[in-house]
Amino acid sequence: MLWGRIKGHDETLERLDRIIELGRPAHAYLFFGPRGVGKATTAKVFAAALNCKSACGTCSSCRAILNHTHTDFHYLAPEGSRTILRGQVMDLLHAVNLKQQSDQYKVAVIDDAQVLGPEAANALLKTLEEPPGNVVFILVADDAGQVLPTIASRCQRVRFGALSGDIVQDILVNQHGLDPDRARLAAKLARGMVGDAIEIASGTFLDLRERMVEVLLSEKRSIRDRVALAVEISEAAKADGESLKKNQEDELAKMEGYAGGPGKLSAGVKKKIIAGHKRDSARRERAVYHHALVFTAAIFRDVLLINENADKKFITNSDLILERAPGEGNTRARVARALTRIEMAGRRIDQNVNPLMALENLFFTI
Ligand SMILES: [Zn+2]
Repeated sequence: MLWGRIKGHDETLERLDRIIELGRPAHAYLFFGPRGVGKATTAKVFAAALNCKSACGTCSSCRAILNHTHTDFHYLAPEGSRTILRGQVMDLLHAVNLKQQSDQYKVAVIDDAQVLGPEAANALLKTLEEPPGNVVFILVADDAGQVLPTIASRCQRVRFGALSGDIVQDILVNQHGLDPDRARLAAKLARGMVGDAIEIASGTFLDLRERMVEVLLSEKRSIRDRVALAVEISEAAKADGESLKKNQEDELAKMEGYAGGPGKLSAGVKKKIIAGHKRDSARRERAVYHHALVFTAAIFRDVLLINENADKKFITNSDLILERAPGEGNTRARVARALTRIEMAGRRIDQNVNPLMALENLFFTI
């Protein structure tokens, strides 16, 4: 049973299961919810279930859908430039409009539907208005509000929520092979967003955890230590941004391959792809600062909980903080001040203030 591969989302899965039972799916669905919680996987399993009621996972139909080799299953995701192009949508529509080979459902999954460009969306719209029989579109998006309203309004909405910390940890360890301790921490910090948790657990900034606790909670914290800590975090951010480079180079090579070999890609397309990569790296870099702020807040929240004698299981950094938090000048007033300033620093970074400066400023004042 393929449904078993999906963690959490009990209510959503029940709803989808009922649709399969009734055997009358809508022509288009919009699966939306936080990044990396299993929307695309669910879309695939739903596609399998439309043609094999139990989504057994072993019959030829299920296997072909899982391997993307099923003639009636189409999966579209943005290529390179981080937009879905009109040509991609036209190819997809051509495939689903081909004369029906069997009485099976044809399923078209469009991942990252929020990046459908206007031209691509227009092409899709015509088909969504008059859908051919036995075709089911599943659009997948992190933010339903970002999908063009003309498209979204023609889809039945299926909401996905954040996952529990335990489930996120389980996914990180068992599906991504990450270290259990890092996975536990990352799951706690990412608040149910698997995508964020993977970023945190596989990135470099968690290595600074001990240093952060030491510098931020020690009574003897010097200005030099605090500046050094902010710089180390900014270096971790840069390293994480750079870490995307290898994949990006591979992707560019793949796109050049499609175009007929190195140097064959048109200058305009290449420029677009590189700009998309730069945006991704900058986003990844910025995310590290946000994760660092969330972690800083977690340190102070831990202090608060320890001062209030809360149960150890609620303390994120119980291994590092339990012994030292009370005393050492970490009063309720300091914690309150720190939490407010952390939030302010987050807002300043969102407003494009130099993140290193925002972090230095924060560490000076808490
Ligand atoms: Zn099957």
